[in-house]
Amino acid sequence: MEHKQGLEWPYTLDVAALADQGWTPRPFRNFILKIHSRCDLACDYCYMYNAADQGWRAQPLTMTRTVVRQAAERVAEHAGAHGLPLVNLVLHGGEPLLSGPDLIAHTVATMRAAVGPATRVRVSVQTNGMLLTDDYLRLFADLDVLVGVSLDGDRAAHDRHRRRRDGRGSHGRVAAAVRRLSEGPYRRIFGGLLCTVDLRNDPVGTYEELLRFRPPGVDFLLPHGNWTTPPPGRRPGSAATPYADWLIQVFDRWYGASPKETGVRIFEEIIHMLLGGAARVEGLGLEPMRCVVIETDGAIEQGDALKTAYAGATGTGLHVATASLDAALLLPPVVARQLGAAALGATCRSCAVRRVCGAGHYAHRYRAGSGFANPTVYCPDLYRLITHIHRRLSADVARLRSTTPA
Ligand code: SF4
Repeated sequence: MEHKQGLEWPYTLDVAALADQGWTPRPFRNFILKIHSRCDLACDYCYMYNAADQGWRAQPLTMTRTVVRQAAERVAEHAGAHGLPLVNLVLHGGEPLLSGPDLIAHTVATMRAAVGPATRVRVSVQTNGMLLTDDYLRLFADLDVLVGVSLDGDRAAHDRHRRRRDGRGSHGRVAAAVRRLSEGPYRRIFGGLLCTVDLRNDPVGTYEELLRFRPPGVDFLLPHGNWTTPPPGRRPGSAATPYADWLIQVFDRWYGASPKETGVRIFEEIIHMLLGGAARVEGLGLEPMRCVVIETDGAIEQGDALKTAYAGATGTGLHVATASLDAALLLPPVVARQLGAAALGATCRSCAVRRVCGAGHYAHRYRAGSGFANPTVYCPDLYRLITHIHRRLSADVARLRSTTPA
């Protein structure tokens, strides 16, 4: 059945009325380029291939040089129009390394040349690590590209989900690649590890396994899901907090370490916001969303996680050949993610941690029929995690105050 998104929030937003009231969009600064649409792994939790949206089937395998040029011109146009001193380009997929070293080098060079000297282009690549050979590492070092790798923990944890098409695990090969990245001359381009939480894995054991690779940072991802299609172990409406319980064990281990062993993005962001800072990542806080996706065929889209909501949820109807990125800024689903507290539903508006939580990841708020004006399906987990971190911080601040010389 075709999804009637026009009837759900945010498609009911009156953008013209918002503009009349003085609202103005904030420019994009994170550009995700899906340079290859397929993957050499078949991870069972993948939101690209196993979610409601099967749009990948219609995508070309690899971004053409024509689309690369058009995308670069659009990013340059956007950066120039808004006077952006820095933009972040993320080479993504599918598995971006499948597009080959020539296209990767061409894409980075084309983007930097188009944008010009007034704007710095910080480039990163997010890879599953299967093809991360010394040749690729040398290329990324030469291009000054930060490399992030997905690794879910030890062999059992990682291979539970991250398998090849023939069912074989990928841990051995990925771990070897991460070791090359971490221990050799390429350490300076090691961006960090991305780990999807699985409640069946021991939290502290998983964290300590990741620490063995001395990552500069670790990002724990909550599995994507929503009120209609809940994530594993999360019963919508239940007050249980399985994901907070898991993450709190990691937090206490991380926070209690001295010296600090690595950065953990979700914890650092919560602390940053509890201390008064503004959100810097998607999925927490009330800052405007500043990210746009350019699909392999050149379509301008929203973030992939929305593919878990319904088929077509990421679409904008725009293409880099014919539309500016400014045009995407005025679409209701993009506007909705730039409205901050004004986009929160009634439950979140009255919540004590709303400034830090911000209703969680936008994709996790979806409920068929009402759309995205809901708390995240992880609401009890985020509330418990944020209040736990707040308690630990408050205790430390109180201790500091009591020992500060007068
Ligand atoms: S904890 Fe729940 S109610 Fe509070 S802001 Fe987050 S999602 Fe909304």
